[in-house]
Amino acid sequence: MKTIVIVGGGAAGLQLAIDLGRALGRKKRARVVLVDRSPTHLWKPLLHEVAAGSVEPTVHHTSFALQAERNHFEFVQGELVSVDRTSRVITVATGSAGETTDADSLHAIGYDKLVLAVGGVTQYFGVAGAREHALALDSVSGAELVRDRLHAALRSKSLPATPQADARKVRVAIVGAGATGVQLASQLRRTSRLLNQYGVHRLDPVHDVDIAVLEAAPTILPGMDGGLAARVSRRLAQQHIRVGTGQRVTSVTPDDLVLGANERLNVDLVVWAAGVVASPLVATLGLALNEKGQARVGPTLQSLGDDDVFAIGDCASCRPTNVARELPTRAQVAFQQALYLVEALPRHLSSRPVLPFVYRDYGSLISLAGGRAVGSLATVKGSSGWYVEGKIAALMHHAIYRRHILSINGWRRALIVSLSHGLERWLGAGTRLH
Ligand SMILES: Cc1cc2nc3c(=O)[nH]c(=O)nc-3n(C[C@H](O)[C@H](O)[C@H](O)COP(=O)(O)OP(=O)(O)OC[C@H]3O[C@@H](n4cnc5c(N)ncnc54)[C@H](O)[C@@H]3O)c2cc1C
Repeated sequence: MKTIVIVGGGAAGLQLAIDLGRALGRKKRARVVLVDRSPTHLWKPLLHEVAAGSVEPTVHHTSFALQAERNHFEFVQGELVSVDRTSRVITVATGSAGETTDADSLHAIGYDKLVLAVGGVTQYFGVAGAREHALALDSVSGAELVRDRLHAALRSKSLPATPQADARKVRVAIVGAGATGVQLASQLRRTSRLLNQYGVHRLDPVHDVDIAVLEAAPTILPGMDGGLAARVSRRLAQQHIRVGTGQRVTSVTPDDLVLGANERLNVDLVVWAAGVVASPLVATLGLALNEKGQARVGPTLQSLGDDDVFAIGDCASCRPTNVARELPTRAQVAFQQALYLVEALPRHLSSRPVLPFVYRDYGSLISLAGGRAVGSLATVKGSSGWYVEGKIAALMHHAIYRRHILSINGWRRALIVSLSHGLERWLGAGTRLH
């Protein structure tokens, strides 16, 4: 029996493993193996809400082992450490993270087709001190650290021992005004208000909590629709979030950000949301890469130079035949690529002809605090120009996550899971209070 190994169970990899398990694994037409370093999956576009305390990861994550048992694939928890492309064998370290990798914890898995779906990590652009002193939103633990540091800063600055107005100020700087940065800023303003409402801190949630988004490009949401950026800017201004465009951060220290040549900003918390590069592991595999370390793939998502290795999602550099530029690092892209491989991989295994991947851009939705969102929707011709705002846009944004829940759980379980999420929101304070 042929073996398909998928490494990375994120937005792309988990969907692929489930659908291939149902299509091939169940009938024993192929062995499907998913490898992930984590035992559970959390949909990455929720991470800014984890950082804001409005989403509790334990309520929203799903176990890979459970999904594997239900959907006829095998799950191996471990970190991909190497790929022998000549013998078609991967090596996975199955020890706990941080443990020394001895021979006993190394696990070899042979493959006929290998799919890399290991996602991306934060891009620091070599800015001095950024990796050491800024927090990043590329993992659940990173998002939880943002949440905990914000709580600590709000609590400590509202102690009576800090009477001077300036000493009471909490300064949050978010570097990068892409979707991640602006969504986070909006959610953090809501968190500062809610924590004040519940008496967790005694600061003025607007005047004593300064939230700034700094962007090197001339506009926020660079690369996205200009009308969308203008609408999001207005919403951020209504929330008293300072937006600085054309501002390049050149270094980060434990207490300061340096802008340009020598403008110094005092900060309590810096979140780096300025870009994404492929997981560094991809660069060690000897594949063709772009400047972001993403594996370059052809029209059928096969890596250039090795037809047995596919790459999808944030770790892939893909320019489909119907799109003029490289696809962005977005869940929408990861999802469509996974669905494409569900059809294409069985055909590759039986050497049948395969059509190229075609990408459809449905537009962009930016979720903001208070159950609001702003979106630009793609028209049939592919250009944007239709805007949605407010609760309707928020419902559309929410529907994307619900579709993810539906496609990994089936409709009966998805209904129960969604009810449990709704109950958690209804019973809770809207944000974590500790
Ligand atoms: C805060 C935030 C908000 C976002 N909002 C949106 C949005 O609104 N809309 C949108 O379209 N996109 C959004 N994105 C982008 C979107 O989340 C990503 O594009 C998408 O998750 C990429 O999917 P992926 O499967 O490639 O990678 P991921 O979802 O990152 O999954 C990668 C998986 O690989 C595993 N892995 C990594 N390295 C290894 C290894 N060496 N061995 C084993 N396993 C490994 C990881 O544990 C993880 O499970 C957002 C991202 C962030 C951070």
